[in-house]
Amino acid sequence: MIEIASQVSLQGYNTLALPACAEYFCSVTSEQQIAQALDYARSHNLQVTALGGGSNLLLAGDIAGLVIYLDLRGINCVDSCKDSVTIEFAAGENWHKAIEYCLQQGWYGLENLSLIPGNMGAAPIQNIGAYGVELCDLFVSLRAINIATGEVLIMDRQACEFGYRDSIFKHKYSNCYLITQVSLELWAQPQVNLQYPALAEALAAESEPTPEMVSAAVCAIRSAKLPDPAQIPNAGSFFKNPMVDAEQLKSLLADNPKMPFYSADNGWSKVPAAWLIDQSGFRGLRSGNVGVHRDQALVLVNFGGTGAELLALANRIQSEVLERFAIALEIEPRIYGQS
Ligand SMILES: Cc1cc2nc3c(=O)[nH]c(=O)nc-3n(C[C@H](O)[C@H](O)[C@H](O)COP(=O)(O)OP(=O)(O)OC[C@H]3O[C@@H](n4cnc5c(N)ncnc54)[C@H](O)[C@@H]3O)c2cc1C
Repeated sequence: MIEIASQVSLQGYNTLALPACAEYFCSVTSEQQIAQALDYARSHNLQVTALGGGSNLLLAGDIAGLVIYLDLRGINCVDSCKDSVTIEFAAGENWHKAIEYCLQQGWYGLENLSLIPGNMGAAPIQNIGAYGVELCDLFVSLRAINIATGEVLIMDRQACEFGYRDSIFKHKYSNCYLITQVSLELWAQPQVNLQYPALAEALAAESEPTPEMVSAAVCAIRSAKLPDPAQIPNAGSFFKNPMVDAEQLKSLLADNPKMPFYSADNGWSKVPAAWLIDQSGFRGLRSGNVGVHRDQALVLVNFGGTGAELLALANRIQSEVLERFAIALEIEPRIYGQS
């Protein structure tokens, strides 16, 4: 039987180290235990919140209802041919450790996503991406349990409606499913993806870069660029990079000729949110017990404050950027406990 505790502190369960309590909390290691937890929630009329590594959460206050920490484990190869393998990962597997394990087995393709914090089950929620690769590039399917009915659903890539840091789980299916397993198709032969300029530059001296070298290079770049949440609590990129259409880009460039941008699909361009925040004067700013990292304007940090303080700072940044550039920044972490 699962153990359900009440008034459990979540401060150690979120990388921003924000103080907040779960009204009820349990940890589950199997689908059977998930069924028990959902039965409990239904019979006590509790809303359910899924919790993984807590690296993409903003806990603005206590969370009402039952928080379920998904701790299912297991990595299995279920299909293989000369060039590819299909691997099933249980939701509670740590993302980076899973990549290390895959490299040891000779399963390739995830290296560019090395060192992203969090667990496997959350990876499809925002279609995690970095250094030229997104989860959806390797995704086959996922297994999820409907929170309201307990029914199991298998969803393929199309059904997940992946986009830039986006999926159906942020919209139509928001807080509707618990993902228990993710299946990915990986390469059985070493291949590398060096499309991302900083990565190509880092490995320029290697005549035959290996997947292991790519993983190590990504880890080195990330460690140099991003603050470690264990030392300075943060949730990585706090805002999504906004997309602007051709007309808005033209008018922005007329006023800000040095504004960086990257061409995306269908005439849209991506503007680095970090640049907009920096230009608005927030980089390195400290406001009470929260602030903006001094080197990375996109990373909001917690010096011992609350989720409400952090959210107030985020809203201040959004207002200033909107006023200066007419761009509405979207917060990337999922916000919970907001009254
Ligand atoms: C330093 C740092 C760097 C980062 N870099 C990147 C990056 O390069 N690219 C990137 O894309 N992201 C990045 N992130 C964000 C984050 O690591 C990812 O979004 C990650 O996938 C979150 O996983 P998690 O297990 O911590 O999820 P959590 O924070 O626990 O949860 C995030 C959301 O997913 C839901 N959820 C979690 N598990 C499940 C499940 N099994 N079933 C259903 N819903 C679930 C939660 O309810 C919540 O809504 C970074 C974060 C940090 C702190």
